Amino acid sequence: MSTDLKNTIFSVNIFNTNTSQWERYTLKGLEPMPKAENLSVYELADYSSDFDKLYTTYIFTDTKTLNQWNNYRKAIGTPIRITRAYCSVKHNKDLASKYPGQVAKYSQHMAGKAFDMVPYYGNITLEQMYKIALSYWTFVEPDYSSHVHGDARDPGSPYYPIVQYGSQNVYVATCQDALYYNGYLTLTDIDGIFGDITKTQL
Ligand SMILES: [Zn+2]
Repeated sequence: MSTDLKNTIFSVNIFNTNTSQWERYTLKGLEPMPKAENLSVYELADYSSDFDKLYTTYIFTDTKTLNQWNNYRKAIGTPIRITRAYCSVKHNKDLASKYPGQVAKYSQHMAGKAFDMVPYYGNITLEQMYKIALSYWTFVEPDYSSHVHGDARDPGSPYYPIVQYGSQNVYVATCQDALYYNGYLTLTDIDGIFGDITKTQL
């Protein structure tokens, strides 16, 4: 990859689902991801191997997702390579135009809730990874031919849960990212808090 992700400075935003507060960090790619085990910040970067592009240095996810990762990683017991984690609206739109019909319109990657994973050293098979994933992620895609997709979606919502004025979570950030993509908000307005600026632009 041409981008030096390990030395890139990222804005890391983690929604703590226990306290319902955002926790924000400024970290280099090679630094450990807060609240996570065996995970570096750059592994969650919105980097596209398809377009050889780092879409944004802003990352968001939540503790529910990181807890599912922690428990899954522990159960696997060997390194895992993450091929896609957080994926911005712009990135997802580009993928959808490159792979028509193969990219989800309501991707959990756009909410920082999903990991695409493959074996790192080949000492475990995709099928083994898939079977173990079923016990640790809220949702696992049935097709594991190229990677295992696990996500921590809201089980009550087939796509995204409803957000409204006053809501705080990763889905608010996804909504703000869509407004940013369409020119209604600036990048710094993406804070995952549904306040007056977001309300005005909807
Ligand atoms: Zn995926």
